[in-house]
Amino acid sequence: MVLIDGKKISLELQAEIAAEVKTLVANGKKQPHLAAILVGDDPASQSYVNNKVKACLNVGFKSTLVQFEANISEQKLLSKIAELNADPDIDGYIVQLPLPRHISEQKIIESISPAKDVDGFHPINVGRLVLNLPTYVSATPYGIVELLKRYNIPTEGKHCVVIGRSNIVGSPMSILMAKNTNLANCTVTLCHSKTKDLKYHTLQADIVIAAIGRPNFVTADMIKEGAVVIDVGINRIDDDTAPKGFKLVGDVKFDEVSKKAGFITPVPGGVGPMTATTPGLSN
Ligand code: NAD
Repeated sequence: MVLIDGKKISLELQAEIAAEVKTLVANGKKQPHLAAILVGDDPASQSYVNNKVKACLNVGFKSTLVQFEANISEQKLLSKIAELNADPDIDGYIVQLPLPRHISEQKIIESISPAKDVDGFHPINVGRLVLNLPTYVSATPYGIVELLKRYNIPTEGKHCVVIGRSNIVGSPMSILMAKNTNLANCTVTLCHSKTKDLKYHTLQADIVIAAIGRPNFVTADMIKEGAVVIDVGINRIDDDTAPKGFKLVGDVKFDEVSKKAGFITPVPGGVGPMTATTPGLSN
């Protein structure tokens, strides 16, 4: 079994981007500038955004963090977005999700200029992805494709089973893996909460990508010997022995599945670090 080290790959990727940025700036081009909007004080969101800001600094981008209290009005948030859309110094930005309930996430996503939508959530960018046109791609699926590529994992003609159909992970993941490029070309099955006999599908998979949000959901009996297992899940479970009283586990029961898989991503240290690095890369 090969452990896919997302931390190591994300640092490699950051070093490559840093070299590109250095050349760009040395040639008199503008230093790229990314911004992030964070609403409220959800610790997980704060941690994701901090990692993204850190990644910006590592690669030599300028970064701006815009923070609002959880009770900010939708209108105020829309005004800030209009400001970022119009600011020529901002090349791209993200609005960290989830947003407080009184704000319509869809309205916010649709107000982001598609040209600055480095998370690739805007309907225009999702449409471009489906149509195989150059676009920003949702960071997590993009990071996973990059992991497969950098571990030389063959994908062409393989059967990939994606579990979960969210707009930010499962759905774009299934589209990317089916793409007619040398990075993907898989036959894809997209499973979800209404799938009948999930195990029947996963047992046929050469590559399983789990994006469910349920701790330890994928067990060894669901995985074919030697399969590639990518665990997107980040779930907090109580752990009295941990300093913070909880630990992070994935959607895959790592201890038993790792004995059967050919390749597997750990949680933490697998897909997560890639997600912090890939926003803004286009396909
Ligand atoms: P989501 O809740 O939006 O979607 C979960 C999906 O799982 C749904 O499409 C649902 O149909 C499916 N599902 C639920 N129960 C199922 C079942 N019993 N059988 C089959 N499918 C089932 O979640 P999301 O935003 O896609 O996130 C999924 C997980 O990935 C979460 O743990 C989240 O924290 C994590 N996540 C990690 C990263 C990262 O960088 N590693 C990025 C985004 C999300």
